[in-house]
Amino acid sequence: MSNTLLKIESVCKIYPGNVLALNNVNINVNNNEIIAILGPSGSGKSTLIRTILGLTSLNKGNIYFRTKNYKDKNFNVIRNSIATIYQNFNLVSRSSIIKNIILGDIAKVSSWRVLFNAWPKEAQDKAIDIIEEVGLKDIDYNKRVENLSGGQQQRVGIARALIGSPDIILADEPVSSLDPQTAKDILNLIRETAKKNKISVLCSLHQIDFAKTFADRIIGMKEGNILFDKPAKNILKFDLNKLYK
Ligand code: ADP
Ligand code: MG
Repeated sequence: MSNTLLKIESVCKIYPGNVLALNNVNINVNNNEIIAILGPSGSGKSTLIRTILGLTSLNKGNIYFRTKNYKDKNFNVIRNSIATIYQNFNLVSRSSIIKNIILGDIAKVSSWRVLFNAWPKEAQDKAIDIIEEVGLKDIDYNKRVENLSGGQQQRVGIARALIGSPDIILADEPVSSLDPQTAKDILNLIRETAKKNKISVLCSLHQIDFAKTFADRIIGMKEGNILFDKPAKNILKFDLNKLYK
């Protein structure tokens, strides 16, 4: 059986105004693999993540999930398999920690339950387990997320991603609004929980040092092009110079 989970094949994205945001991009994400996409602002990292999620159309190319081509159709095939983590956390700020986490698995909860906050016992138990897993067990989980620090909010973001038991997490600069120490802690948490739960991760970052300790593999992007794609331990100064000079 192939070890490829997600295959991005010859993908081009051109925005109106002739902006070539992705220029013939090819990426294979393997099972249980953590990949960092490294590149300066404007290199196409967010566009890449948005195209995988089907939030923006492609001009050319294909995207396969477990050998199924899902481009332009039937994103439901992947909805339950892909979770996301964002820079600004994307939480419902006036809702509680536990509600935000359960909402990560919304497909499995009926709408009247959402309306009345009447969560099935299993969903609550699972959420509480995950709250512990992301290091929030000492906080009252009925607290509104707007009263949490940035690092704590991103822990809720990670918990929300984990609750649906995804095969892959896509993270778009998940630590860029956090201070350096919190950023390190959060990346460690994403790495540890992903490895433990056998989840692949595709994560855009712009800090080289973070990428080196976080990822198994680093892909360097600039102006829509992939400049290198290699194991984190093999990254050379020469590679990074190409990206940031
Ligand atoms: P990154 O996430 O690496 O900063 P982006 O994917 O956001 O890069 O952007 C890649 C390029 O596409 C940039 O030149 C950006 O200005 C352009 N771009 C991004 N979104 C749009 C859009 N909705 N319309 C037009 N151009 C866009
Ligand atoms: Mg971006």
